[in-house]
Amino acid sequence: KESSSKENNVAKIKVVVRKRPLNKKELARKEDDIVTVYDNALTVLEPKLKVDLTAYVEKHEFCFDAVLDERVTNDEVYRVTVEPIIPTIFQRTKATCFAYGQTGSGKTYTMQPLPLRAAEDLVRLLRQPVYHNQRFKLWLSFFEIYGGKLFDLLSERKKLCMREDGRQQVCIVGLQEFEVSDVQIVKEYIERGNAARSTGSTGANEESSRSHAILQLAIKKHSEVKDSRRNNDVNESKSGKVVGKISFIDLAGSERGADTTDNDRQTRLPGNASYCNLNSLSWRIEGAEINKSLLALKECIRALDNDQIHIPFRGSKLTEVLRDSFVGNSRTVMISCISPNAGSCEHTLNTLRYADRVK
Ligand code: ADP
Ligand code: MG
Repeated sequence: KESSSKENNVAKIKVVVRKRPLNKKELARKEDDIVTVYDNALTVLEPKLKVDLTAYVEKHEFCFDAVLDERVTNDEVYRVTVEPIIPTIFQRTKATCFAYGQTGSGKTYTMQPLPLRAAEDLVRLLRQPVYHNQRFKLWLSFFEIYGGKLFDLLSERKKLCMREDGRQQVCIVGLQEFEVSDVQIVKEYIERGNAARSTGSTGANEESSRSHAILQLAIKKHSEVKDSRRNNDVNESKSGKVVGKISFIDLAGSERGADTTDNDRQTRLPGNASYCNLNSLSWRIEGAEINKSLLALKECIRALDNDQIHIPFRGSKLTEVLRDSFVGNSRTVMISCISPNAGSCEHTLNTLRYADRVK
């Protein structure tokens, strides 16, 4: 294959698990930490009951490209996951970094610092004469997929739509992109986008757990002569040709993808019965949408891993949006976030099994 000779030694797909520490509530409840990390493996001790109600534990073992325990800092997470990919972005690579896991497992905590660190490294590389002379520039965009619809987080949550240009290129019509040449500006855009997420940043996970947030950093090459007649793609003609890019994706809570228990649903329902049904219905539809996108994502990553020619990106809005990141020279990092407490055991095992199938 033409592309393979140009690929460097960075793995095409990397699956990393990150365990967060027990939080105050879990400590106050004296919950057990059932996850033990050693090297690039971990065990989960699942509390179980026999028919005669005697307690026992079932031990589950998993192995991944890397497993990060509760003492690992965000800086180290960056070094393990994103840092190795950065140079490849200058070599036509489309990279994607996901955080997957149940609500409260640390996806946002893990994802939020990564784009800024990446931007620091990209800006430093861009200042090198070799790239500077080629008119390479860094561009940033930030949007959200909520209920199957796209919203621009840097443009008053403007609703966006998607268009294909016939050359397998996806274009999000109207998405604001900003040229960023220093890190302070990147920081401001990220903060602005985070504030515009369907949650605000109250720490309450209610809303953000239902949306996928996508921050993209693209390196573009700007030509000296205007070639807007040849490039009829809106994004390209205005702002240069994409050399490579990296997308950071804070996925919706994976528990919404699983069959939610009545308990989960009940807590969200107000007393009024008819309202109740409606709410329950939209909850189900939304859950189905999230389920579809997480399933489609897994299918696409697996297809990538097997070097399949046909990537089933049409399975969901999320994978359609990421279409150009799944073809050609791509890199994928999946960070599976897990909670350590016994009460999250089922979700933790689901997350690890999902990650295991992607691997
Ligand atoms: P999610 O986005 O998956 O719903 P969050 O990232 O919001 O979860 O994390 C839930 C809570 O746990 C937050 O208060 C966050 O600060 C805390 N937290 C998550 N991961 C860690 C960690 N590795 N170390 C310390 N605190 C963490
Ligand atoms: Mg979150």
